[in-house]
Amino acid sequence: MKTHLELVSRRAEELGDHRREFIEIGRRAGRFPRAVANSLRRVPGADISVWCSNDYLGMGEHPLVLTAMKEAVDRYGAGSGGSRSIGGTSPYHILLEQELAELHGKEAALLFSSGFAANDGALTVLAGAVDDCLVLSDELNHASIIDGLRHSRADKKIFRHNDVDHLGQLLAASDPARPKMVVLESVYSMTGDVAPLAEITAVAKHHGATVYLDEVHAVGMYGPEGAGIAAREGLTGDVTVVMGTLGKGFGTAGGYIAGPAPVVDAVRTLSRPFVFTTSTPPALAAGALASIRHLRTSETERTRLWDNARLLHRLLVDRGIPFLSDMSHIVSVVVGDDTAAKTASALLLERHGLYVQAINAPSVPVGEEILRVAPGAVHTPPEVEEFATALDAVWQELRLPRADRRAPRAA
Ligand code: PLP
Repeated sequence: MKTHLELVSRRAEELGDHRREFIEIGRRAGRFPRAVANSLRRVPGADISVWCSNDYLGMGEHPLVLTAMKEAVDRYGAGSGGSRSIGGTSPYHILLEQELAELHGKEAALLFSSGFAANDGALTVLAGAVDDCLVLSDELNHASIIDGLRHSRADKKIFRHNDVDHLGQLLAASDPARPKMVVLESVYSMTGDVAPLAEITAVAKHHGATVYLDEVHAVGMYGPEGAGIAAREGLTGDVTVVMGTLGKGFGTAGGYIAGPAPVVDAVRTLSRPFVFTTSTPPALAAGALASIRHLRTSETERTRLWDNARLLHRLLVDRGIPFLSDMSHIVSVVVGDDTAAKTASALLLERHGLYVQAINAPSVPVGEEILRVAPGAVHTPPEVEEFATALDAVWQELRLPRADRRAPRAA
């Protein structure tokens, strides 16, 4: 009986020359010199204060990142010039993949043009390249995960959100001989709650299942060096594949997976969104690299983010404004009505100069509309107070329901 991980690794071995060729392309490109520099330049401030940006740490305007990108444009031009295997691999791609592998304590990493493409491309291969694979997927998993699993055509069972018992039951009821993979997120994008990762990885391990973890809303923000929730919980070794984005905490764009070398090689070789597309522009890879390197050593941004998130949690609890979870920096304020959510968003913008987008169906179920508030590292505590006061005024005006003045359920 072979586990999912063993079968994917064997599949990579079978790819033989094709796989070695890809690796050699990477080595050749990696011999070029690197160029990531420091200087201090600022972007001008905006009139409207944004409270729903996924650039959670403000790295999209960090001088180190901007300088690295400009230097890379000067050296390598605007675009990559091709797909990764045909002219589109620059030293930055290689350095970035090495940095990501190191960050996550994995053997290898692979860059995609977006987080969506990473999930879609990797899951199609990981679930689809192994015969009779059974996938266990959290019911709140992101659209990119759902699409990847659909494209894999693998058999899929959905477990109730963050419900370890339900996952355990589904695994126990399945044929022990089948290769299995558990797919989940660490910080959930719309609810802001965090997966019970220790319990989930323990159950997965018990049943010999690979664990694929989407850390899109955690990388840069949580764990030592910003390596994410798995690293924070000391579970790096129990998560087989970590998936992340460069477009949120790291402030640029792009997505990736990191994992055992044979698994990454299988995805590198078979994934259509990796193989058949123009690669990430070198300047973007250079910017992401500068961002990751900075966040691996700097706690400043993480501390500011978390202080602001905690302050907002407290201010909302004090005002009886309901929100879904206080487990992360994603503060999903519950409106529960489509029109009211849009009106609240419009009032915040028109009266207070605060932009926070209403989230309606299909991103959330009908009747569960939210204002997905993302206090960032670039906000100041007085700005967080102002935001809470403005939200309170809107709540009052629209006569929206208040919550009990106690902390939300830690889902
Ligand atoms: N995974 C999750 C959980 C997301 O929320 C998102 C985007 O919001 C993605 C993947 C896709 O990442 P990207 O925006 O880099 O395409």
